Amino acid sequence: MAMERIYIKNLHGAVDTEVSVSGFVSVRRDHGKLIFLDIRDETGFVQAVALPKEVGAHEMADKLRPEWSIRVSGTVKKRPEKMVNSEQENGDIELVLSSIEILNEATTPPFDISTDGYDVGEEHRLRYRYIDLRRARLQKNIRMRHKILKKARDFFDARGFVEIETPILTKSTPEGARDYLVPSRLYPGQFYALPQAPQQYKQILMASGFEKYFQIARVFRDEDTRGDRQPEFTQLDIEEAFIERDAMLALNEAFAIAVIEECFPDKIIQEKPFPRISYKNAMEQYGTDRPDLRKDKNNPNLLAFAWIVDFPFFEKDERGGWTFTHNPFSAPKTEHRDELLKKENIGNILAEQYDLALNGFEIAGGSLRNHQPKALEAVLEIIGFSPERIKSDFGHMLSALGSGAPPHGGIAWGVDRLIAALMNEPNIREVIAFPKTGEGRDLMMDTPSSVEAKQLDELGLSIKKEKH
Ligand code: ASP
Repeated sequence: MAMERIYIKNLHGAVDTEVSVSGFVSVRRDHGKLIFLDIRDETGFVQAVALPKEVGAHEMADKLRPEWSIRVSGTVKKRPEKMVNSEQENGDIELVLSSIEILNEATTPPFDISTDGYDVGEEHRLRYRYIDLRRARLQKNIRMRHKILKKARDFFDARGFVEIETPILTKSTPEGARDYLVPSRLYPGQFYALPQAPQQYKQILMASGFEKYFQIARVFRDEDTRGDRQPEFTQLDIEEAFIERDAMLALNEAFAIAVIEECFPDKIIQEKPFPRISYKNAMEQYGTDRPDLRKDKNNPNLLAFAWIVDFPFFEKDERGGWTFTHNPFSAPKTEHRDELLKKENIGNILAEQYDLALNGFEIAGGSLRNHQPKALEAVLEIIGFSPERIKSDFGHMLSALGSGAPPHGGIAWGVDRLIAALMNEPNIREVIAFPKTGEGRDLMMDTPSSVEAKQLDELGLSIKKEKH
């Protein structure tokens, strides 16, 4: 019977025993008589050696090339004092091979994965993402992402929040971006929209008697490609009923601190509780609503959080009408409620909206909501919606709110951006397993791509002649 596999991280406990290790060949160094292999599995890295007297293993070692997957057996040996490399993981042991089994050969890797990879062209990295992901930096990022998301689930679960999935095939939610549309085959000419946020569903859940909701949700926004945007990204989406603003801020602050203490013990939070700055003051003092408040920008472990509060509810759009600055669902601050209902002093109205900035990035944003239908209706009227449009686009929301929906509020964290900031990565693509390029393409799958005429036909669609 084959020997049970041991993970490389456990080899220290197996000195002088025969073990079986599976993994990739990182490097092969041929010293003629001795052939050295660096073998890695997901837990670590170890040097192995094939001695000439182990003829079978030696012959096999001669054939191996980087990134082949292998299963080897051998004896774990302490290295003689002189050969110990204290700089290296497992630098005091090596595996003396007795046999090697090739599990799969690899084509020559398109780039070196032993480096951090920042110098390799990104398109190249994304086209061969399966190889790129093998590099230690990305392995670390993706595993840390898992750890942070697990912490999020545990944190909110422990406080009575329930994770509820909401639909991906849904109706347009105005979050300020363009929707991705999905044509319906059964209803030709009609479309689903992919969610820009689970906003309406989470509010409807409040009306449904779920007082504490969260979801690690994928959201989709068809925006012009700009810097660090992705067509799809992940939000940690939260909503709670009967909650006041300060309690919502405190809850999220506790979450941020818990994640950092558990996952990033070396990081220092510059100021606790997080400072709160009004939008007006932020703009006046820093010229931005996501100021970078770090006192020492050279310190990669310093985290400066700040809540930005009291945003203007409305701003003028390019046609001279009013539009919302965040989304239409926010409540006005209590002192502006009458103005909203009377639709007066519109430019003056402040929303119960709060954004969280971290080192110059907006990493979360949310608000207390209009839980009474007349307030949401007033917002929609201010932004120029006709009664018919209000009914067709928001009838369901108004009627859910009118079913006795309790006061509620929530927030959504930009998970990718949070992780990128905590991992000191320059962009969110470095913390997403399979990101799109800055131009919105998946180069590995080669998509977007055209589809068969038959598929279009079934959907009742035809493609207009290419625009030039
Ligand atoms: N739905 C909002 C967003 O995606 C967040 C929120 O208000 O909860 O930005």
